[in-house]
Amino acid sequence: METKRWNVNTNERKYKQSIEEAAELLKKGEAVAFPTETVYGVGADATNPAAVTKIFEAKGRPQDNPLIAHVATKEQLKRLVDDIPEYAEQLIDLFSPGPITYVLPTNGTCADNVTAGLSTVGVRIPDHPVARDLLKSCDIPIAAPSANVSGKPSPTVADHVWEDLSGKIAGLLDGGATGVGLESTVLDCTQVIPIILRPGGVTKEQLEEVVGTVMVDPALANKDEKPKAPGMKYQHYSPEVPMWLVEGSKGKIQQLIDEEQQKGNKVGVLASTKTANVLHATEILPLGENIHEIAAHLYDGLRKFKEGDVDIILCEAFSEDGIGQAVMNRLRKAATEYIKE
Ligand code: AMP
Ligand code: MG
Repeated sequence: METKRWNVNTNERKYKQSIEEAAELLKKGEAVAFPTETVYGVGADATNPAAVTKIFEAKGRPQDNPLIAHVATKEQLKRLVDDIPEYAEQLIDLFSPGPITYVLPTNGTCADNVTAGLSTVGVRIPDHPVARDLLKSCDIPIAAPSANVSGKPSPTVADHVWEDLSGKIAGLLDGGATGVGLESTVLDCTQVIPIILRPGGVTKEQLEEVVGTVMVDPALANKDEKPKAPGMKYQHYSPEVPMWLVEGSKGKIQQLIDEEQQKGNKVGVLASTKTANVLHATEILPLGENIHEIAAHLYDGLRKFKEGDVDIILCEAFSEDGIGQAVMNRLRKAATEYIKE
């Protein structure tokens, strides 16, 4: 299959036409990738099981991992679910459009392969002009997981999507780099107290300011517990070579680099700009000055180190405050070892 690629810039004359072409493909039951404020997604008509199957095939995604349905407005969101608790209404009003997915009882509008046969559906209103214009133009709920081959880091620029899915999907809207750089927060809103199933763009602290207590799925901290979001049990975000996540001083990280280099290994380093500036290794990739910049550059960093260029990646561990919780959740999954000083 040839994948059509549109360069979309909201100021351009051809913008509207490109969005309409992509929307037509979606309405016809094809899979199309598009940017959101979190990462790039690959979408298909959430009410059409044959269309949704194309996403699973293109990504090689396990069938038991449900997809998030994307809509443009709160009214469209309400058309997919049975009932919404008061606190979820409040959160939707405050944080949507935005990087948060609400897990609510499904009313059966979304196909069974979107929900993986569960009684709930994950719904999100993305906050990105291209995603919103596309959703408005096709006027159907769009099931869209991250637009990467399953297991690899999520795509934060269109070239990542091209690398993974060209030839496997009908189209790709290239809208430049995404903003947040990490996936949405997945929040279970079926209980009296909301539960974070996956940390993401909206932080626990932000949610607690609105609804008081927010729980976190115990499986996020304990590997022996079964996660409530089926996708959280899979190996994810893996770079091509082994990665050690290191919690410790700059001296400790340099010591590990030196030991590996003495063994003849080429070492790639992912760290904050401040830490990167004082380390010496084969390749060093500074991720940014603060945790927001680090989140935005993380997946590109994980993809940049290729087999052959380096033998091992050492990544600095970061503080778990705010979006740091989501950054560390992804890094723990990506890492083959966790080293504490
Ligand atoms: P992705 O779109 O690839 O970033 O993954 C979506 C995440 O949301 C996965 O971890 C899914 O397991 C989770 N998810 C989607 N729908 C539901 C649902 N109905 N209940 C629980 N988790 C869900
Ligand atoms: Mg994903």
